[in-house]
Amino acid sequence: MAYSYDDQNIFARILRGEIPNDTVLETEHTLAFRDIQPQAPVHVLVIPKGAYVSYDHFAAEATDAEIADLNRVIARICRDEGVSLENGEGFRMITNAGRHGVQEVPHMHVHILGGRPLGRMLS
Ligand code: C5P
Repeated sequence: MAYSYDDQNIFARILRGEIPNDTVLETEHTLAFRDIQPQAPVHVLVIPKGAYVSYDHFAAEATDAEIADLNRVIARICRDEGVSLENGEGFRMITNAGRHGVQEVPHMHVHILGGRPLGRMLS
């Protein structure tokens, strides 16, 4: 079965400029913007510009350039937002996928959360 991408999802519409966003950083392949309902002092969403529904879709089918670009954007944001271990107290990355992962927006995105102690997960 192939991955199915809905090009009417809200992040696709943000990428087309149909809906505003609070951009943190934009590169050739990647857009990062502040979450509209932040769960922590730092809550940034990092999305590929390509039409990928989930992280596994992205990891399987994106080009090496797209994958490298997204990861470099994550590193830059962590540093710029002061949550990197280079200059801060750390962060959490979350990417939800599908129904069991409780993914609301079906365009691949990575949440970067930080700026406060985030509590223990996976215990
Ligand atoms: O991982 P999940 O799909 O559940 O997260 C979607 C996220 O997108 C939510 O945190 C929501 O607040 C955010 N969002 C946003 N801007 C929108 C619509 C949703 O930042 N216009």
